[in-house]
Amino acid sequence: MGSQEVSNVDWQGKRVTVAGLGVSGIPAARALHERGARVTVVNDGDDERSRAQAAELEALGITVRLGDGATLPESTELVVTAPGWKPDKPLFLAAAEAGVPVWGDVELAWRLRGQDGREPAPWLAVTGTNGKTTTVRMLASILEAAGLRTAAVGNIGVSLLDAALGDETYDVLAVELSSYQLHWAPSLRAHSGAVLNLAPDHLDWHGSMAGYAADKGRIYEGNSVACVYNAQDGATEDLVREADVEEGCRAIGFTLGTPGPSQLGVVDGILVDRAFVTNRQKQAQELAEVADVNPPAPHNIANALAAAALARAYGVPPTAVRDGLRAFRPDAHRIEHIADIDGVTYIDDSKATNTHAAEASLAAYDPIVWIAGGLAKGATFDELVTGAAERLRGVVLIGADRALIREALARHAPEVPVVDLDRTDTGAMSAAVGEAARLALPGDTVLLAPACASMDMFVNYNKRGEAFADAVRRLADESA
Ligand code: ADP
Repeated sequence: MGSQEVSNVDWQGKRVTVAGLGVSGIPAARALHERGARVTVVNDGDDERSRAQAAELEALGITVRLGDGATLPESTELVVTAPGWKPDKPLFLAAAEAGVPVWGDVELAWRLRGQDGREPAPWLAVTGTNGKTTTVRMLASILEAAGLRTAAVGNIGVSLLDAALGDETYDVLAVELSSYQLHWAPSLRAHSGAVLNLAPDHLDWHGSMAGYAADKGRIYEGNSVACVYNAQDGATEDLVREADVEEGCRAIGFTLGTPGPSQLGVVDGILVDRAFVTNRQKQAQELAEVADVNPPAPHNIANALAAAALARAYGVPPTAVRDGLRAFRPDAHRIEHIADIDGVTYIDDSKATNTHAAEASLAAYDPIVWIAGGLAKGATFDELVTGAAERLRGVVLIGADRALIREALARHAPEVPVVDLDRTDTGAMSAAVGEAARLALPGDTVLLAPACASMDMFVNYNKRGEAFADAVRRLADESA
């Protein structure tokens, strides 16, 4: 199916089971019901909130089964699932046995787009273990700078279903896709796709690294213009090779080094394009300066290059890349500068919830007082600590699994002072900032990059980052 082709499902009377009463399930159930489908929503939970949500849907004529997300309702013709539901759930096994297809929220949006007669906007899609949100926002900023009607959507807070069915008309969409969403999106065909990087994450869900990589690689399937890969991460290039793309679709690499033909890269502090120029053997087009990237940390420059590659694949001029990157402001808790106190810089990278992300931000500063710890999710820390050892002024550990990091430090960086805060209460962050300030010297960076999830101590990584920023601001007030 070509990327602009619109599928024509006749929904009238179709029996659809929607799995999960959540942010994607409710709009999916409504949209299908409006199109004449006979919708049954199944949900594991049966709490007060789901009962209230169920009542609203039932008032429209939608059937809801609470407390049983495992049984496939009789004569189901299609299952539409929330992306997070694990593929080995009994509901999906039953669907497979009955030959019933399973779509996620992204697949549904892909199939419904354009059915109202409007020309569907092509998708520029981004996935990867880390950097997705940042790259998609940079991309949207570049597309806007080019005067295009666009939005950053997908696994980013704005649902694809809303974008596909809402009143707004778009020229092109900047789409963030998680590995879960890709798993459940069998017929998605993006205009161009990018895999930023690949490191082990969510392996319990996908079953194996090979399964995780294969789901990420789905983003390249059927691309019509460009498959954008990270030339410094061979696994992403392998995925391009394995993809079945449209005739004429090109493989475009990005690198922090000098770009080869068909690549974007960096030369003397300039982001350059050697892919979308007339003579790529001899020519390179200047796009922007490294200083235009906010913040200009190495991994963020990689994100900017990936965003630029997708935008250029769509035909955006170089000046829009520069203007869009200049206008881009990073989301909170992603290497966010909080304050400078007594010559020490305080950075909040609470979003570094895995070791691959923390590795990137640890590589961006020197010397560092590192605040780390939380829920390790089965990770090991030897590689991370070895790579960062010589830049560490000191380390402050918090959270449930801090012993794992302490042991890795003892093995690979025994001379680095470590303060192990034997605390998991919320006030521990304030104590951690105090300890970090004591360890830091003028010119150092105090970096919150936990390499762990936050849920042992905080509701989420936002709250963890806010606790850090509050503690830093109190410190600033005291030293003023
Ligand atoms: P995602 O949406 O994939 O979670 P974000 O853009 O929200 O990614 O960034 C999450 C964290 O990942 C950042 O706080 C930073 O620590 C790290 N990060 C961002 N970009 C990269 C990259 N290209 N490579 C490695 N780590 C990155």
